[in-house]
Amino acid sequence: MRLKKYNLFLVLAASADLDMCWLAIRVIFAAKQTIPRMLNVVLFGPPGAGKGTQSEILLQRYGLVHLSTGDIFRYNIKNTTELGQQAKAFMDKGELVPDSLTISMLESEVVKHPDPKGFIFDGFPRTSAQAEALDRFLNTRNTSITCMLALEVDQEELIKRLLNRAITSGRSDDADEAIVRNRIAVYNRETAPVAGYYQECGKYRGVKGVGTVDEITSRLCAELDAFVQ
Ligand code: ADP
Repeated sequence: MRLKKYNLFLVLAASADLDMCWLAIRVIFAAKQTIPRMLNVVLFGPPGAGKGTQSEILLQRYGLVHLSTGDIFRYNIKNTTELGQQAKAFMDKGELVPDSLTISMLESEVVKHPDPKGFIFDGFPRTSAQAEALDRFLNTRNTSITCMLALEVDQEELIKRLLNRAITSGRSDDADEAIVRNRIAVYNRETAPVAGYYQECGKYRGVKGVGTVDEITSRLCAELDAFVQ
């Protein structure tokens, strides 16, 4: 007998009677209750959709660890690490950093947190290969993605927001309209299909990403709370 989610195995002898079976079932469910369920959220959406802003609010409200691959790359660029130097060439053009680099970096960030209530993944997964790698990796840690919350914002609004953000963010990939448009094109081509991966297992929820910050937070929390219960 196996409870897949928790990787628990119980072997019952062929001669096991009904009492033994009941005992085995009770052991499995008792184990289920003692293993705390993590809340692992993928906050999804195109560049400029507001993932960073909403992540900051959600992580406080739900006590989660925020992992933003964009922030981690920028930290590495600032500190001129090897990883930063490799990532910079892609980021400056608005292209994705290769999967192999991104996946191993993300995994090494996850293991830095020994006992988290859960994670908000912001900017990851951005390709189908990353989504599959994340599932495999979380499975080895006896956990999984709870849901994907996707912020929906139309393209012209995104471009306006990013060019405006460039004034304060100092991000070179925000300042140039051609690079901004390329990031959105890369998103539509390589990242948007990742939503289908979570739709197939009933974990996808789309949320309107236009309105006040508070309004959008309320929409996200309503979806998230439905998963938590
Ligand atoms: P935004 O969502 O506004 O584009 P991010 O800060 O999430 O900003 O990402 C900035 C850049 O970092 C991306 O354009 C890409 O080059 C790189 N990047 C971030 N996350 C990933 C990822 N999961 N896979 C590949 N590249 C990534």
